[in-house]
Amino acid sequence: MVFLDTQYHFAETRWYVERVCERYGLSLRIIEPLIPPDDLWRVDPDACCEMRKVEPLARALQGKEAWLTGLRRDEAASRAEAPIVSYDIGRGIVKVNPIAPWTREEVEAYTAERRLPEHPLKAKGYPSIGCWPCTDPVRDGDDPRAGRWAGSGKLECGLHGWSPAKAT
Ligand code: SF4
Repeated sequence: MVFLDTQYHFAETRWYVERVCERYGLSLRIIEPLIPPDDLWRVDPDACCEMRKVEPLARALQGKEAWLTGLRRDEAASRAEAPIVSYDIGRGIVKVNPIAPWTREEVEAYTAERRLPEHPLKAKGYPSIGCWPCTDPVRDGDDPRAGRWAGSGKLECGLHGWSPAKAT
């Protein structure tokens, strides 16, 4: 299990990660970018995501045959076609999104039923949480990812793409 430390996470995210690790006894691999903190996110968020998310994930996945994510189709229009299993052509490994078809309501029901820990910012209007410079709260009825890079036209960080050769 990998946590990509972009160096720009909310303090609440760090707290939440520690709670989840404690509860489940997880041995988390924390992967950091190869560059120090800077202001690149202000002028070139695509390049910033490339250096703080995409490249670190590539390092984390070296030598692996598959990776799993929590991506879901109803998170955003850009994810509506996400398959459960696909061949990640860019990385040359299998990609599995086990809960891709789950709705937000199903996730909330499962969370309540299992009493899973929740990110503290969720109750403050953040249904999707990334780095603090690029994450705003959303209004009721908004796309859950509307607060990510709000107003910039950017929808994804570059970690997720899927090939047409999807299996499910
Ligand atoms: S979400 Fe923002 S701060 Fe985080 S890596 Fe991407 S551009 Fe940089």
